[in-house]
Amino acid sequence: MEKREKLYEGKAKILYATDHPDLVIQYFKDDATAFNAKKKGTVDEKGIMNNGISAKIFEYLGANGVPTHFEKQLSDREMLVKKVQIVPVEVIIRNRAAGSLCRNYGAVEGKVLSRPIYELCYKNDAYNDPLMNEDHVITLDLATDAELADMKKITFQVNELLKKFFLALNIELIDFKIEFGRYKGKIILADEISPDTCRLWEVGTGVRLDKDRFRNDLGNIKEGYQEVLKRVTHK
Ligand code: ADP
Ligand code: UDP
Repeated sequence: MEKREKLYEGKAKILYATDHPDLVIQYFKDDATAFNAKKKGTVDEKGIMNNGISAKIFEYLGANGVPTHFEKQLSDREMLVKKVQIVPVEVIIRNRAAGSLCRNYGAVEGKVLSRPIYELCYKNDAYNDPLMNEDHVITLDLATDAELADMKKITFQVNELLKKFFLALNIELIDFKIEFGRYKGKIILADEISPDTCRLWEVGTGVRLDKDRFRNDLGNIKEGYQEVLKRVTHK
């Protein structure tokens, strides 16, 4: 697979074209941002760890029937994926209260939610990724009814699979964000699934193994990602 021109550089990743029109390379950087990029920094080797963790998770989800963009891991920082047209909606599931649910709604951090909260946000930094409902998505022409239905079904499926996956590693999945894209007329899971996009707490101790260490200056940021990579790859 030949790597070609840079297509896009985002906050955490770079996308490169390949010699195959349907495939792109995701390159994982060490840059970290939080609170809509108001906080910026780098975490040494984060890109390597997130690439490794994402690859394992996509493999697992794919093996369990979830359609994903993942093709294969190419190198320590590179992953080959299907090129999709991203639906500009960030889909979030919360199993316990944390982050913006606490900041914006006063929920107590760690409260076990009586059922998962399914949340949609407009993926648009200029507008601060505002919370939106399905009517916004449809009427702003971000996705169709059928696409939204697929996204919701897949998201709940991902929640069940990931809860199980992490629990086996003694980690509780508190919440996560995923993105979807259109590929040959179908909705598939895209982007990454990593400690940048999930909240992961160690069972029993409540130790944070995710980007909250960066967001909230908890220290030992790299160690959190490393611990997740270690458990995910059973090394
Ligand atoms: P951001 O754009 O939020 O700064 P990243 O730095 O993670 O985010 O950049 C990766 C970009 O690539 C994101 O905008 C994401 O939606 C997009 N993307 C993820 N997977 C694919 C894919 N398979 N095909 C095309 N674009 C993708
Ligand atoms: N999240 C993400 N990208 C975003 C916003 C949220 O990956 O742009 C993830 C975040 O890591 C967490 C979940 O979505 O796992 C819920 O995030 P929350 O709304 O609490 O965001 P916060 O503002 O606290 O980052």
